[in-house]
Amino acid sequence: LASRDFHPDDTIIKIKDVEIGGEQLVIMGGPCAVETAEQIDEIARLVKAAGAQVLRGGAFKPRTGPYSFQGVGVEGLVMMADAGRKHGLLTITEVMTPEYVDVCAEYADILQVGTRNMQNFDLLRKLGTIKTPVLLKRGFSSTYDEFLNAAEYILAGGNPNVMLCERGIRTFESYTRNTLDLAAIPALQTLSHLPVISDPSHGTGRRELVEPMCKASVAAGANGLIVEMHTDPDNSMTGDGVQSLFPEQFAKLMVDLEKLAPLC
Ligand code: PEP
Ligand code: MN
Repeated sequence: LASRDFHPDDTIIKIKDVEIGGEQLVIMGGPCAVETAEQIDEIARLVKAAGAQVLRGGAFKPRTGPYSFQGVGVEGLVMMADAGRKHGLLTITEVMTPEYVDVCAEYADILQVGTRNMQNFDLLRKLGTIKTPVLLKRGFSSTYDEFLNAAEYILAGGNPNVMLCERGIRTFESYTRNTLDLAAIPALQTLSHLPVISDPSHGTGRRELVEPMCKASVAAGANGLIVEMHTDPDNSMTGDGVQSLFPEQFAKLMVDLEKLAPLC
């Protein structure tokens, strides 16, 4: 079902007035994690003012270590939904377990499956039983074939609204956190009809590389970008402050992107 052979036309996912997968770029911006109501409200205001369409933020965080901040949970979903509604933005948040799919879908417009859960088949199966759009991130050691098979689980369950997200893979390079695989963008669009979103924040792990890799992703044909932005990245509650843009950088990026492709 994920294959272009089966479905020659591009899939366009329509959420309210935003169409993902067509000629227009969708930009998702926001913090790695929802921290407080004030934090997400202020960032939502800045994301909207910059011209983006979707507010990102994790309420449940898949941390490498068990003692790291794990997210604020359901309260964070409520804070983000309020901020999205107030500022006229769609919202995307990560869901990590099948049990939390329904509550996350109640509060968010798009559900994210993180890189660590790309092959959490129970989660994928559960996401196939609803119609909420899913942004499926590529596993950091997964091939395109494994990635598309993961998407297949959701599609086969009856949910056609799947976006693929290239977020970088693990290579021998340690200067960057991951290696953003730019070729994945046109390759996945050749193999599949699903929209392809690029995540240069996790794909590089370095703030100064985010802007050029956003532009490169658009040049490679990405249907959208997901970008971390924080008002106080040095004090963010996850380690992802180092890859988060400052609000001014995010706003400038949006101006530059508009010259490359029409925005949603
Ligand atoms: C995130 O989007 O903050 C995140 C945890 O992403 P990934 O699953 O790509 O590491
Ligand atoms: Mn993050």
